[in-house]
Amino acid sequence: MTESAREPTQQVATAREAFEREFERFAPFWGGVSANSLTLKQAEHLARELTELRARHTGKKSAIASCKKLIGRVAAEDRASFGQLVQQTEAGIVKSLDEAEQALKHFIETARVERESIDVTLPGRRPRPGHLHPITLMRQRIEDIFVSLGYAVEDDREIETDFYNFDALNIPEGHPARDPQDTFYTTDGFALRSQTSTVQIHAMQRRGAPVRMIAPGRVFRRDTPDPTHNPMFFQVEGLCVDRGITMAHLKGTLAEFVHRLFGPETKTRFRPSYFPFTEPSAEVDYSCFKCAGQGCRICKFSGWIELGGSGMVHPNVLRAASVDPEQLTGFAFGLGIDRTCARIYQLDDIRLLFENDVRFLGQFS
Ligand SMILES: [Zn+2]
Repeated sequence: MTESAREPTQQVATAREAFEREFERFAPFWGGVSANSLTLKQAEHLARELTELRARHTGKKSAIASCKKLIGRVAAEDRASFGQLVQQTEAGIVKSLDEAEQALKHFIETARVERESIDVTLPGRRPRPGHLHPITLMRQRIEDIFVSLGYAVEDDREIETDFYNFDALNIPEGHPARDPQDTFYTTDGFALRSQTSTVQIHAMQRRGAPVRMIAPGRVFRRDTPDPTHNPMFFQVEGLCVDRGITMAHLKGTLAEFVHRLFGPETKTRFRPSYFPFTEPSAEVDYSCFKCAGQGCRICKFSGWIELGGSGMVHPNVLRAASVDPEQLTGFAFGLGIDRTCARIYQLDDIRLLFENDVRFLGQFS
């Protein structure tokens, strides 16, 4: 080696030694990492440090990069051997880095898979068993009672024509009863039914008469939501049409219903009322299930709770369903499922039943 190559050769040696000093702590992973020597977190940290080490010792500003620039400056006769020395040193550094990196990478991947695999010795997560909504529970209780009295359960459409929602129920265009029963309309002139009474007509048209059926379902009114109103709520409609049906049958049926729902001591009370689709009509009350008529908070200290509306089916309604009112008579009634629910559970706000807050619903399991 001539004098011109001595100093550059020294620089290459210095660059290699500087790398080896820093690489020393990665040397154990050069050729594999044993599983219990490291945690996943430590390995991830080391991998980041290794990337920085590579940038420092092989990048454009590294010592070995400066050595490459000296190749052109050494004497011509030393240039080939010096160039080789620089290349071999660089290759050695890159090889060390690559092998340590491979080993760490492999370790990290394996450790991650293990972390994500299932530890069968851990306690399981307890499944939360669901239960039916309080409105559904109430509907089922009501259905059970009427099915045992020989009634069929009818289900029908919620979107109706004006005919079924109003006309067939003896509420012609311009009738004042259309007002409190105002509902929502589609742009095609269909209405969301404002009472389950629509099913009376469908059922009589489909089954003919005599008929005994109840129709639980959703109904809609143009009401502003407040603690006692909601634009969507649930009703049960009841209809019994046969030869010789009288008001006595209506009273007997509803008395039996409240006996089975609230207990045999429950009394009923009928107050004259008006509905376009029944004549005569009556509001039905039952004696408070909590205080037995003595007066309490639930019955607002009256001793009575309103069940719903009822009456003898108007001849016009029978005619609309092609039933001859000279031959057959019938009674009908309707009651609110959610209202009954709210009374029984003493809810101050009926909207609680529709908000589907699990903290609320969970109390009814
Ligand atoms: Zn009471």
